[in-house]
Formats: sequence, structure tokens, C-alpha cells
Amino acid sequence: MITPARLLIAALLAAAAPALAQPAPILITADLSEAPRHLYHAEIDLPVKAGPLTLITPEWIPGEHRPDGPVEEFAGLVFTANGATLPWHRDDVNLYQFHLEIPKGVTALHAHLDAIVPARVTPHMAVLEWERLLLYPANTPVRDIPIKPSIILPPGWSVGTALYPMEIGQTPPPNTGINQSAHLSTGTAVMYYATTTVEQLEDSPVLTGQYMHEFPLAPEVTPKHFIDVASDEPRDSDLRPELLAQLSNLVREAGAAYGPGHYGAYHFLLTLSDTAGGEGLEHGQSSDNGVDEGTFRDADHQLAAADLLPHEFTHSWNGKYRRPVGLYQPDFATPQRGNLLWVYEGLTQYMGYVLAARSGLITPVQYRDLLASAAARLDMQAGRAWRSTEDTAIANSVLRVNGAAWANWRRSQDYYWEGELVWLDADTLIRQLTTNKKSLTDFFHVFLGKGGATGPLIVPYDLNEIVTDLNQLAPYDWSKFFADRIDTIQPRADVAGIERAGYRLDYSDKPTRTETTVNTARRGATVIDVWYSIGIRVTNDGTLTDIRWDGPADKARLSPGQKIYAVNGTVFSADALKTAIRDAKGKSEPIHLILQTGTQVTAVDLDYHLGERYPILARIDNTPDLLTDITKPLTTAPAK
Ligand SMILES: [Zn+2]
Repeated sequence: MITPARLLIAALLAAAAPALAQPAPILITADLSEAPRHLYHAEIDLPVKAGPLTLITPEWIPGEHRPDGPVEEFAGLVFTANGATLPWHRDDVNLYQFHLEIPKGVTALHAHLDAIVPARVTPHMAVLEWERLLLYPANTPVRDIPIKPSIILPPGWSVGTALYPMEIGQTPPPNTGINQSAHLSTGTAVMYYATTTVEQLEDSPVLTGQYMHEFPLAPEVTPKHFIDVASDEPRDSDLRPELLAQLSNLVREAGAAYGPGHYGAYHFLLTLSDTAGGEGLEHGQSSDNGVDEGTFRDADHQLAAADLLPHEFTHSWNGKYRRPVGLYQPDFATPQRGNLLWVYEGLTQYMGYVLAARSGLITPVQYRDLLASAAARLDMQAGRAWRSTEDTAIANSVLRVNGAAWANWRRSQDYYWEGELVWLDADTLIRQLTTNKKSLTDFFHVFLGKGGATGPLIVPYDLNEIVTDLNQLAPYDWSKFFADRIDTIQPRADVAGIERAGYRLDYSDKPTRTETTVNTARRGATVIDVWYSIGIRVTNDGTLTDIRWDGPADKARLSPGQKIYAVNGTVFSADALKTAIRDAKGKSEPIHLILQTGTQVTAVDLDYHLGERYPILARIDNTPDLLTDITKPLTTAPAK
């Protein structure tokens, strides 16, 4: 439990410390009134002194793990002081830095800038991630730079954010979320927030919209939790009671699994829009989530995104509060090092699905089916023959934005799903070593529980700490356990956890209902699932996007970008392709394809006779079913 008084003290201490180092905060006003036109504006007042000044904007964005700060979106940058425009020039090596010479007698610098915003805005909503608008002194730890934000909203729009709508020293008003704007006098749409730090402001996105709903979650839990939802259609943001009950369960389950939170109040920010773009970005007190407008319409549609909110919420503990030492830099300019992303993201990937199941967002059967899909994909990820999981983590920033062609040979950000399997392996091993007396939950209570409840805080860790904490619970050679699975090239996926849990990865000639539902819910069902049979990813129009290295299609020399024109003498369709795969099973006659490559047409034969193949988890008889244990809720909802 954490009392509001203790929370306030934590917030005051957090905010007061930097204020001593630099008394005057930067004032920043984010003007979102033209958001529907893809324009944000900022007015920034910086305390300065005479002499050379270098300002900087974030480059390495926490949670993105790569140098993609959107400096290219800056436009209209003008600096003024005492009514005069000051010249600036960009650093010709570090493009995120701006150099100025501050004249004698000047103590306040004003910066105006416009940001051209490509995504997360529609005529009815906007999401502000503050790195789009920030400018602050370079070479200073961002946790030591005080900044006081305010926001101008489009008329009639509401706002959801974890920023504190109060001044330090004032009594905090009840956290009213989007209704904050109702407290303003009529006709104004300016929101004022308490002084924070550049580090915390970057971690505090703002969601604003014309059609917004805010729902309290698990109201008996302290601190408070909300989901703030904006949509393009008024009715979409009114979430189903069943979903809200599941999200309340999520709040309870995360608390039971991880212990006290590290936030004043937690806000899930959610956009439902077919044009705002997809997003899932963790923040300590307010994850930024974006999905298509129909995603949470019903249980079938939400299946494909069921782990999104549990995943991003988990990051408040694993990633934001506890962060790998290489991923926590004193500024947003020093490169991040990703070698422990299999903990930051991999453990979160594991728990995202476990919490989704414990909360009722997915069923235990769906949990197992989704795990089968992840394990099979990794097991057939050909690139595992040449690069380790650790290498996918270290190289994450160059793996995030690659195309589909030969992706299985290159590997992608596999540390997410490899981490999921490795942490299932660890969870089941702890249960086995302790004859089911302990589990990963006990590890969380040690690893995540060291500081008790606090306000927003970042405490770095290294692998030694994880190994030490695990050894306390269940003595084992955990260093070797992780080195074998993460640092070493492994030709097969780590299915030891699945098997210790009483299941084995297998293939069936029919997809699971979960897989069919997920494929159908994704708009257009653009990929026909024949990856585990003939080894291609193919869209509904016959275009090949990826070829499985060393699979049947690779052996027949098919290429990404080619288009299947005909199958066994019939014009291409999903049905024609699957019928051909079924008909060739157990026979010697190959599958005949006509392929189009640019303006050329060629005939190719696929020598494949094993029929359709879809991943499943098959129960191993007479073994304990640990997957059912793992997905059981730890809490019960209070009686109404
Ligand atoms: Zn994540």
C-alpha cells in the first residue's frame, strides 16, 4: 500500500532535487491546436547567460532503443532574445545540436519551432511524444534540467496524461484525467502542469482528442489506474464492460506479480483509429498505445493485440523502473547498448501474454496456441544458424526497420520471442528446482521489489544482479543457463520450458482456431499461411514477400518479389494454393507454379509432399501441466 501523502512526498523530492541545481525551469508550451493539420508548435523559454550556448533535442529515444529522435520534423525554428532574432547553426557532426552565441545582458532565450508530424494525428485526435518539441542545454544530465510544461488544445478536445496538473507545494487535486480540461474557465484550452524534469517530461506523453473516454480501472487499488481512449468515431472510445473488467484484472494481476508500482497514477493512453498509426511505447506512468479502430470491438478482434496493454504496463516495472545499465543514459544523446534487451523486452514479452491470460484477455487455450506460433516461428528462423539471440539484441537498432525479403535468414528482433521462451524455461526450472514452491513471481518480488513503492524512478541493473537474485531463490548455474541460450548460436529454439511445462511443439494439418482468428482479424488477412509447408510468405494477390531459407521454395529457387500467377493450371488464389499442397501430400507429382517476375513468366515445380503444416502445442501425457498453472490468476476481483 502507498498513501497519497507518501506519494506526494516522493513527487516533491523527485521534483525538488533538480530545482536546487538550476532554479529557473525551462517553460515549454506545446500548441496542439493545429494537430489535425499535422503541425505541432512549441514556444520555449530558456534561462541563459551570455556566451556560447549549445541546445540539443533527443536522439536516442528510451523504449525505441535506437537513434530515431524526429529532428528531421523540425521546421520554422527561430530564436529571439530581448526582441531580437539570434542566428543559430546546426552542429555539422551531431545533427541534433544547435549552436548560438548569447549576447551580453541576455538572461532569457525564446525558441519557436514547428514539428511536422507524420503519424498519430487525425482530424479527431493527437498524441504528443515530447521529443518532437524539446530543446534544452546539451551536455547536462536530463534528470537535472527542470522544465514546466503547458499544452494548448484544439477547441473542445479533452486530454489524458500522467503529468501532474498542479504546482509543487500545492495540494494535488484529485486525478481527474481527461476531465482536467473541464476545470478551466470557459473559452480557454490551455493546460498547465507542474514543473518536472526533461527526463520525466520525455516519459510523459499526452493524448488529446475530440471523442475521449476515461475509465478508472480496479478502483480499489492505490495508486489509481485509468485508461484514456480517443477514437475517430464517437462510439469506439466507449470500451465494452467486459474489456474494462479484464483491464481491471490486469491492474490487480500486475500488482500481485510485480509488487508496488512506481507512478503517481498510471494512465493507459489508447488511440483507436485506422489512420493514426499503430504504436506500443512504454512509459513509466502512461503507455502510449495505438491500434486499428475495431481492435477491441469483440473478443475475436482483440486477440491479435491481446498482449499490447499487458506488455506496455509490464514495462513500467521492467524497463522503466528497472533498466539495463546500457540502456540508461544520462542524456538522450549517448548511444544505448542493447545487449540485455532479452530481459527488457524478452521477459516483458513472456509476461505480456501470461498477464493477458491471467486477466482474461485471452483464454489458456489461446495462450498455448500463440506460444506454439512464436516457438515454431523461431524454430524455423533460419538465421539462427549464423547469429545468436544476443546479437539480435545488440543490433536491434538496425533490425527494427528492415523489409520482409529473406527476413528469416537475416533474423529480426528475435530477442522478444527468444526471451519469451527463455523466461518460460527459467520459470518452469525454478518451479522444478523448488518442487513448485517458488516461481518467477518470487524472482519479481526480489528483483522489482527492492525499493518498495516510489514515484517515477530509474534503477539500473546488470546481468550479475539477475543471476544473484535467481540464485537466492533456486541455486543453479544461471550464468551458464543464460549464456547457453542467449550468447551462443543455437540451431533450435529453446523449447525446454514448453516441454518441462508438459507440452511439445508439433505440427497439424489444420491451423488452430486462434491462428485463424488472428489472421482473419488482421485487416484483409494479407498473408496466406504456408510458411511451415512450402516455405513462403505470400499475400492474397500471390506476391512472395519472404522465402524460408533451405525450405522447399528456396530449393526451387523462388525469389521475394515474384508473383504466383497460377497453381497446377488454375489461376492463383489461397484456396488453389492450399488445395495443391493437400493434393501433393504423399505423392511424387510436384506442385506446378507459373511465376511472374517483372514482365517475364516462368514455370517452376515445387517438390513438396508433406501436406499442410501448422504449429500446435501437443500435451505430453502423464506430466504436470505447468502452462495451466502459470496462466492461473493470482488474484480475484472484489465482490461488487
Ligand atoms: Zn516492449
